[in-house]
Amino acid sequence: MRTHTCGELRAKNSGENVTLQGWIDAIRDHGKMVFISLRDRYGVTQVVLADAELIEKGKKLGGEYVVEVEGMVRERPSDMRNPSLETGKIEVVASRIKLISSSSVPPFVIKDPATAKDELRMKYRYLDLRRPSMQKNLIMRSKLINTVRAYLLKKNFLEIETPCLTRTTTEGARNFVVPSRNFKGKFYSLAQSPQIYKQLLMTAGVDRYFQFAKCFRDEDQRADRQPEHTQIDLEMSFVDEEEVMELVEGMIQTIFENILGLKVKVPFQRLTYRNAMEQYGTDKPDTRFDVYISDITKIAKKSEFRIFKEVKFVMALTVPLLTRKRIDEFSEFALKYYNSRISYLSFKETISGNIAKFFSSKLTGELKSALSIRGEETVLFCAGDWKRSLETLGAIRNKLLEGKTPREKYKLLWVTDFPLFEWDNKTGSWAPCHHIFTMPKTDDFKDPSKVAGKQYDLVLNGIELGSGSIRIHDRDLQERMMEIGGMNRAKRDREFGFFLSALAYGTPPHGGIAIGLDRLLMILAGKDSIQEVIPFPKTLTGAGLMEDVPSEIENEKLKELGIKITLTGK
Ligand code: ASP
Repeated sequence: MRTHTCGELRAKNSGENVTLQGWIDAIRDHGKMVFISLRDRYGVTQVVLADAELIEKGKKLGGEYVVEVEGMVRERPSDMRNPSLETGKIEVVASRIKLISSSSVPPFVIKDPATAKDELRMKYRYLDLRRPSMQKNLIMRSKLINTVRAYLLKKNFLEIETPCLTRTTTEGARNFVVPSRNFKGKFYSLAQSPQIYKQLLMTAGVDRYFQFAKCFRDEDQRADRQPEHTQIDLEMSFVDEEEVMELVEGMIQTIFENILGLKVKVPFQRLTYRNAMEQYGTDKPDTRFDVYISDITKIAKKSEFRIFKEVKFVMALTVPLLTRKRIDEFSEFALKYYNSRISYLSFKETISGNIAKFFSSKLTGELKSALSIRGEETVLFCAGDWKRSLETLGAIRNKLLEGKTPREKYKLLWVTDFPLFEWDNKTGSWAPCHHIFTMPKTDDFKDPSKVAGKQYDLVLNGIELGSGSIRIHDRDLQERMMEIGGMNRAKRDREFGFFLSALAYGTPPHGGIAIGLDRLLMILAGKDSIQEVIPFPKTLTGAGLMEDVPSEIENEKLKELGIKITLTGK
């Protein structure tokens, strides 16, 4: 129906008779002439209505109407060119204009940058998506998917789908459940990830699998979380950690090259979990900034400050001199989110701070040299147990760096040697830190807190992009790990019986990773929320504002499912 798209015509097309179709981006009535900016996914072309009859027709049109225009391409006079448009050197002088679809007045102006509130943008997502920047994100998403697919197919991977409707297993997050009409009183769960299926595919001899997998997790939402998200999910047989990491590095390199035209260096930086925590206070550090945490327990214990004498660890974060106001802000933040107290020392000509009086001048000197303090700096202290004090300072470090310009734009790194288990105070037992399928690095499990896993997390600019591991391929070892992780036999058999039996039928050594596609895309597109790169996202509370979900369902349907609703709680 159209001869060209709205982003296609150039000066070389001058003199051609063309037919365009698109949306009216803007319409300007200059009396003797009407100018229409006609938009589609490919761009915007200026259309001129100069003939009296056409002008009359043009006056009846409005923004977001869909029209068809036939006309002659002509070069614009040099002073009328628009360098910000790719088609800015030409215009189409219409000989015919036809209304295809009219439009109600949109609830917001369809222009970049968005001016409407997020709620309105989501309610009318199909209009919001018309904005060129959103179209760019959709295009980038498609390009990313296809880059990954081409890369993995070339490396002998098979693209295989796994079920979304599956059984409830303890995988970390809460499951979304789906009732069943045929099996009243029973439920499916929406898969949190294809983890078990992809491992079963390795048992099945598939050797190399990948999928763009939808994952469903009923978790509290954050800016970089959604109840359903997409993972680049892959698994490989007969590999060790190095081979998976190398494959992923090549994939990320190809992605950066294809999408941003940038070369990223491989191999990526590597940090052990312990080092990441002890230097940056997080297992996903942004290492683009030289701001560090130090363990100064030994020195702190020599001070007269009672709390430092009583606790196990004292950690210190050294930062450029902070105002009192800023220190108070951080203290409040630490108390509110980490239930931790912050104390501080500020080094100027003199030393001040709420614990200055507990430090002799000799001890201050010792501290100064241990922390390499040369200029005017503030040291924030957090005392307590290892993890909480580090995490508190790590979170303050992140807050402090917000909005600061990093040394380099993109920094990729691997975090390795994660502990497999951590003590869960709530259940009074050991719990897996990641998932229970990760291969331990040792066979000595006397102290579960000391068992590291063959796990590798991929971090980009302080954001966890993905997590993977070499898996356990031996049934006995898998059961042992489940047992340490607090799962008794009955629960093991109920939730994982099918999987454990499969492991007993000759399972090859295997490992893989899952990379958050939405998060990766968010960073590549330079956005700070994954909602910007998901076509139809949910709000932070998990609501779909456009289609109004979740919603009640009709009594008839409930009856069919054999469900009666009694609401309890909030
Ligand atoms: N299935 C895991 C996750 O979604 C990733 C992996 O280990 O491959 O976190």
